[in-house]
Amino acid sequence: MASHVVGYPRMGPKRELKFALESFWDGKSSAADLEKVAADLRSNIWKQMAGVGIKYIPSNTFSYYDQVLDTTALLGAVPQRYGWIGGEIGFDTYFSMARGNATLPAMEMTKWFDTNYHFIVPELGPETAFKYSSHKAVSEYSEAKALGIETIPVIVGPVSYLLLSKPGKGVPKSFSPLSLLARILPVYKQVIAELKAAGASWVQFDEPTLIKDLESHEYAVFTKAYAELESSFAGLNVLVETYFADLTPAAYKTLTTLKGVSGYGLDMVRGSKTIDLIKSGFPAGKYLFAGVVDGRNIWANDLTASVTTLSVLQDIVGKDKLVVSTSCSLMHTAVDLINETKLDDEIKSWLAFAAQKIVELNALAKAMIGQKDERFFKANVAAFTSRKSSPRVTNPAVQQAAASLRGSEHRRVTDVSARLDAQQTKLNLPILPTTTIGSFPQTVELRRARREYKAKKITEDAYIAAMREEISKVVKLQEELDIDVLVHGEPERNDMVEYFGEQLSGFAFSANGWVQSYGSRCVKPPIIYGDVSRPKPMTVFWSSMAQSMTARPMKGMLTGPVTILNWSFVRNDQPRFQTCYQIALAMKKEVEDLEAAGINVIQIDEAALREGCPLRKSEVPFYLDWAVHSFRITNCGVKDTTQIHTHMCYSNFNDIIHSIINMDADVITIENSRSDEKLLSVFREGVKYGAGIGPGVYDIHSPRIPTTEEIYDRITKMLAVLETNILWVNPDCGLKTRKYTEVKPALTNMVSAAKKLRIEL
Ligand code: GLN
Ligand code: ZN
Repeated sequence: MASHVVGYPRMGPKRELKFALESFWDGKSSAADLEKVAADLRSNIWKQMAGVGIKYIPSNTFSYYDQVLDTTALLGAVPQRYGWIGGEIGFDTYFSMARGNATLPAMEMTKWFDTNYHFIVPELGPETAFKYSSHKAVSEYSEAKALGIETIPVIVGPVSYLLLSKPGKGVPKSFSPLSLLARILPVYKQVIAELKAAGASWVQFDEPTLIKDLESHEYAVFTKAYAELESSFAGLNVLVETYFADLTPAAYKTLTTLKGVSGYGLDMVRGSKTIDLIKSGFPAGKYLFAGVVDGRNIWANDLTASVTTLSVLQDIVGKDKLVVSTSCSLMHTAVDLINETKLDDEIKSWLAFAAQKIVELNALAKAMIGQKDERFFKANVAAFTSRKSSPRVTNPAVQQAAASLRGSEHRRVTDVSARLDAQQTKLNLPILPTTTIGSFPQTVELRRARREYKAKKITEDAYIAAMREEISKVVKLQEELDIDVLVHGEPERNDMVEYFGEQLSGFAFSANGWVQSYGSRCVKPPIIYGDVSRPKPMTVFWSSMAQSMTARPMKGMLTGPVTILNWSFVRNDQPRFQTCYQIALAMKKEVEDLEAAGINVIQIDEAALREGCPLRKSEVPFYLDWAVHSFRITNCGVKDTTQIHTHMCYSNFNDIIHSIINMDADVITIENSRSDEKLLSVFREGVKYGAGIGPGVYDIHSPRIPTTEEIYDRITKMLAVLETNILWVNPDCGLKTRKYTEVKPALTNMVSAAKKLRIEL
């Protein structure tokens, strides 16, 4: 049996590409230096896969920034404002689109399905001229071939490309990029012809949008596109790859009847119903690329279970037509366990990063043809047994406490408007109260203090003294600025999830488990391997210290359970909601300890609640139900006079506003200034909303300092749709990435705008 990999991480085991890119962007190295690092990474990856025994090795899954942007380059669909004059697209034009340049901002970036990867959204219109303008797919194929390695070039499929595009600047919103199908296909035909000429015998088109809830006319576009391409496929095997979920029966039918296609890639991990679809009928003579090895997680594959699945599939599709594959590109998992020297052996035995997953693939393929590597399988069974029985994983008390939660309500007894009255009596805030979202600028000294404390180079006392000094500085500054509800500035936190994960049981941290988020940016998600509990208070010390420095209310600052869950690698041996409930119970204890310590305002950040929404509409209500419930669990036990805030960062709220209200927070702050006040439209439509709300009044992602007048205008616009007594005034998000020279004037202007309005109202 053959093995196949949908795609592989590009960043390198130690983020080599990140450093090469950033050095190039900073003008510290040449284009040739960057190209050399990239070529080495590619050749290492290909050799690694070939060495392991993978048959279908992908090429063109490398990218200097993003595979969708690569496709934009391939099609020559550069928005006019970037001044590209034709010819092969080089670094200049490419990186201008990706990151902006001295005069132009970058193109919009958005999340790649429900992953934490972000792609550059193509901008199309009736005027877009398509022309084959990047030969990257062919040159990477040939580059591998020159190394003696046969690969499958991977290209974002034409229909997914169009479905992921948006109307460009000045193009009516009603314009449908799908209408451009006939104009992009000739370019696809050109690249196919060139790949054939270079010797390719397979091509992979990624068409992940097929897993979305599409309309019948959209399915019809897939049918039409591949019928149109069929003649150019002659002499070539074509794999259409889907991932991230199972297909609806209509999508499955569309996929399996596409013209000219020889194989289908299906996600067998997230696509829990995929196997039933295949059982319902699979076209004779076609290949099934069965994605049994999880590309979205870091857990070792249950090889025994996979062999069972593969055997079932083999009976349906035939021995020579089944290919064992990954559920999606491995770019969504970490790169290589070999660099994890700090993780203990037991936990390591439960894990598989990309480099280990390709070994699993090969072991599965071999086992299916009677060449089972007994030692490898035995070790795998042993790892699963140890994971199942380990007391580090199972904590019966936590299991019991979480088991009874589902189905219960956990809601504060008093309704929100009565609570707000009780809180106002206690807090005595002016109208349009001002606050910030939590973090203050993180200086080099702060980072150094944290690093040295971690490395035991400075004592705990010295560390506490450094933090105390910083907190006191931040408190004084806020008092001088006359902000109403203060924060301590989060100087002790490296990251809003890692900080809590490090103090909760059931979490492990990798040293190099980076996953690309966008461009050169990577995140290193914590690994939740066991039942979660809170051995001791996590923030009470710092929050009490900060509160003791001021008579004004000090916000306790926590990360919510759903965000901790969504920004981690989550265990796969129990449902996600179960893990979320466990985190909620741990955070509930923290909330109650903060309250007992005299903290009257507590903010529980849920920046990632929205993005955790499943891709398939039918699964959204269940998710929102347990996610919102988990949030309520954390704070249902506090007094009416304790004010619970949540910060939801940038979340497209309009379609989930009822769930947001159902979180029953006293005050919600959200990022708003970059979204054209889209958010406010939902209130304009008359949604009944009684809790406090703080839509950000200025963008913290930019160094630009907003004027008093523009903040004043923003608040005035908000007051047109929101009641005066529920509106809060705050920036879009935390200030950690900004400088004090930006933060001070910006907050000064924010407070003056609020004060000006208070007089007028
Ligand atoms: N409290 C966090 C901060 O201010 C919130 C960050 C976020 O929303 N991403 O940094
Ligand atoms: Zn935010």
